[in-house]
Amino acid sequence: MTAETPRATVCLTFDFDAISIWIGPFAARSPSMISRGEFGAVGCERILRLLEREGVPATFFVTGHTAETYPDHVRAIAAAGHEIGHHGYLHENPLALDTPEREREVLLRGFDALDRVAQVRPTGYRSPAWDNSPYTIELLLGQGFRYESSLMGNDFTPYWCRTGDAIQPDGPYLFGSNVDLVEMPVSWILDDFPHFEYVSIRSLGVNVTGLSAPSKVQEIWQDDFTFMHREVPDGVFTLTMHPQVIGRGHRMLMLERLIRWFKEQPGTRFSTLGDAAEAFRAGFR
Ligand SMILES: [Zn+2]
Repeated sequence: MTAETPRATVCLTFDFDAISIWIGPFAARSPSMISRGEFGAVGCERILRLLEREGVPATFFVTGHTAETYPDHVRAIAAAGHEIGHHGYLHENPLALDTPEREREVLLRGFDALDRVAQVRPTGYRSPAWDNSPYTIELLLGQGFRYESSLMGNDFTPYWCRTGDAIQPDGPYLFGSNVDLVEMPVSWILDDFPHFEYVSIRSLGVNVTGLSAPSKVQEIWQDDFTFMHREVPDGVFTLTMHPQVIGRGHRMLMLERLIRWFKEQPGTRFSTLGDAAEAFRAGFR
C-alpha cells in the first residue's frame, strides 16, 4: 500500500437476536411470529459458511437468550474466530429498563449466558434498538467494556463516548467529557432491518415496510463506501445485519457480491469491530 492509498476498514457485524427480539420487545406469543426469529439460526449457519468461504472475520452481537437457546450456533461463531459482542439478555431496550440497577442486572445476565455457553467475555456492547439510557455509558465503563456501537454522531470515524451531556431546551446543547470508551458508530442506512424486514404490530405502533430489492440496498451501501474511501482516509465502514434478515437467499447473494466488491477496492481490509476499536485507540497513544 502506498502512502497515497486511503486505508479503509470494513466491519461486517451481525446482531444475532433470533427469538429474543420477538418475545422481548415485540411481545410476540404467536408461533408464526416467533418462528421468524427461529429462522435466525438458519441464517446464522449460512453466514458462517459464507464468511468461511470468503475468509473474512466478523462481529456477532448475541443476546444472552440467543446464547442459551442456540448454544451450538454461538459456540460455532466463537470457534470460527469471529468476535462475540454483548447485546443484552432478551433484547431489552435500555431506556425501557428505567433504573440503572435493572440495566446493570441485564448486563450481568448477558455476560453470564455468553460465559456459560461459549466462555467469552465481550469487550464490545451494542444496545438493543440502539437506544442507550442516560446511565448506559457509566454502566459499560463499570463493566470494563472497551467500545460500544449504538450511537450515530459520526458515520465512518470512531470517536470517544461522553458522560455528562446536558440537554437544555432553552439553550445550546452542552457536551460532557470524553471517557475511556470508543464509539464505533452505526446508522439505520447501513442496517439491513429497515431496508428488508416487514414488521407490522399495530398494538406497539411498529410499522416497518421493508422488502427492498437488494439492488437498491447494494447501491446505497456501495456508494456510502465509495464516498468514505475517497473522502475519509482510515474510515471504518460498519454494516449492521441480522441473520434472520440477511439470511434469505437473494440477500445472501447480495452480501456475497458485496464482500467480493469490497475486496477489489484498493487498500481495503476486513476487521472485527473490536480490532477496529483497538486500532482507533492505538492512534491516540
Ligand atoms: Zn438486536
